[in-house]
Amino acid sequence: MLSIEHLSCHYGVIQALNDVTINIEKKGIYAIIGANGAGKSSLINVLSGLVPASSGKVVFEGKEITDLQPHEIIKTGISVCPEGRKIFKSVSVYENLLAGAYTLKDKGEIQKNVEMVYEFFPRLSERRKQLAGTLSGGEQQMLAIGRALMSNPRLLLLDEPSMGLAPNLIDFVFDTVVKIYEETELPSIIVEQNSEMALSIADYAYVLEVGHLTMEGTGEELLASDEVQKKYLGA
Ligand code: ATP
Repeated sequence: MLSIEHLSCHYGVIQALNDVTINIEKKGIYAIIGANGAGKSSLINVLSGLVPASSGKVVFEGKEITDLQPHEIIKTGISVCPEGRKIFKSVSVYENLLAGAYTLKDKGEIQKNVEMVYEFFPRLSERRKQLAGTLSGGEQQMLAIGRALMSNPRLLLLDEPSMGLAPNLIDFVFDTVVKIYEETELPSIIVEQNSEMALSIADYAYVLEVGHLTMEGTGEELLASDEVQKKYLGA
């Protein structure tokens, strides 16, 4: 489904990703964990076309997407819920969802997707007319995920969905990511500093350290690993 081959990326002289190879063949929930500055967001940004790769390639469903622009990537079926949510604060919840569906033309399909998002996040339904900038942090995160679901993606990228959220909301957001997968079979890749949470829901996970991929395994295996425990779970 997604093949990342020997991918590197640089910001000037800073190398953020160094020869990263990840091959995802099956649907599932995938996690990428790592410390601050490990390159997690850079990986999401290369996959979504926001940052160019300096070498290597990315192939999604058999099509090379390495040098595509963000608006072209979304049309290939990859949707992103970005770090920091980046919702449109001065328009309503509903209009934010419509913005996520800008690649779709069929109004009936768009409304069906809006209803699906409202089912996953009833709070958004209650606040559909409210300006998005007045939502709480947790609600804004729900909106960012909902907006990413609007384009009928076949792969969802989530960058730090737990950032800045209270523990009960983190649980809700992660439970909903699992629910979305169970109900829609939409595969996702979650980049997270909250390693414990991400590994607890991941079918398979990868560890990034200063741009290098250093470990991989099932979520369960990595949760049980002494090295992961010591470095990322505060043991
Ligand atoms: P965090 O969890 O803090 O977001 P991360 O694992 O997502 O960290 P990246 O944000 O991908 O890591 O950063 C990887 C490296 O690239 C770091 O050394 C960072 O300082 C550098 N970097 C990231 N964005 C830029 C940029 N726009 N310009 C220059 N350097 C950058």
